[in-house]
Amino acid sequence: MGNLVLRGGFMSLVVTQSKLRAFMECPKKALLKQAGIHLENTGERTAFGIVWHDLIEDFMNTPNKDNFSAKEKIADSELSYVDKEIMLALFEQWKLKCPYVNSVVENEVYLENSNFIKGVTLAGKADGIEKLNDGRFRLIERKTKKQVNEQKIMENLYSDLQCMMYDVLTGGKIKQVIYDVVRRPSLRQSVKEDDIAFAKRCVEDINSRPEWYVMFFTVELFAEDHERAEEYIAILATNFKKAVNGKIAQPNVCACTEGNYPCDYVDFCRYGDYLQYRVDKKINTELPKQANASKKWQKRLWREEWNENINLEGLV
Ligand code: SF4
Repeated sequence: MGNLVLRGGFMSLVVTQSKLRAFMECPKKALLKQAGIHLENTGERTAFGIVWHDLIEDFMNTPNKDNFSAKEKIADSELSYVDKEIMLALFEQWKLKCPYVNSVVENEVYLENSNFIKGVTLAGKADGIEKLNDGRFRLIERKTKKQVNEQKIMENLYSDLQCMMYDVLTGGKIKQVIYDVVRRPSLRQSVKEDDIAFAKRCVEDINSRPEWYVMFFTVELFAEDHERAEEYIAILATNFKKAVNGKIAQPNVCACTEGNYPCDYVDFCRYGDYLQYRVDKKINTELPKQANASKKWQKRLWREEWNENINLEGLV
């Protein structure tokens, strides 16, 4: 998906949930994302997450689930022996607990709303979507994490930006969102323990307390939620559009090192160290306005390869 789409002759800015989330944290962060600048090795699902998503998708698409072999599905993946054993154990527990295991779910569904705000196309992708008997939808959002704070998830669900985006993207037709969260073991392998022994210990831990590893959180959405979501997303998306057009772009330096995880762009913003960052060239060639960058810098970025010689004065 490119960052700009053509709709009826004018350019429309594509706004996703992750851009709005970044914008809430720090406008500059959102603009750097919009410009296609990312820290190497971040922003992408882990190999474990990718294989897990594919596994669940294949399983849900299999008509006769009794014939489904998870072991065969993940045999050729690049996961380590330990991760494969962990995944198999998680999958068995997931099947037992999953509330939508027998539903007809369409996976990886792209959603788009280009009529919400002029010049803005809201877009998002749902991991799973199920049409209910009353014509509304149930959405499924899958996550694999090492660290999960259940309390925080529960507290934030009703004001969750992703939930609001889904609701706006479907014109208020979401009845329920199920967050399907799988926790990966955080056990440490001892020096005396080989892979087989360590995998066995992880599997035993998963089977002895499956509720710790496999969780489902359900959010019901009502009419008032839809109004609130529309209002909230409209404000955020409008301000993001203004920022991209150079109207407001004040960084929120308070967010640089807030919480346990510092912002991905700390070295970029503080020290002008851009060597560990990559530019998504495809996005850059499609962008007529390079967010937060000087015109001179834009021209150089489009013209040249991303390499050590590029002068990033306009951004840092
Ligand atoms: S390092 Fe600070 S100023 Fe830079 S994008 Fe991150 S939060 Fe914003």
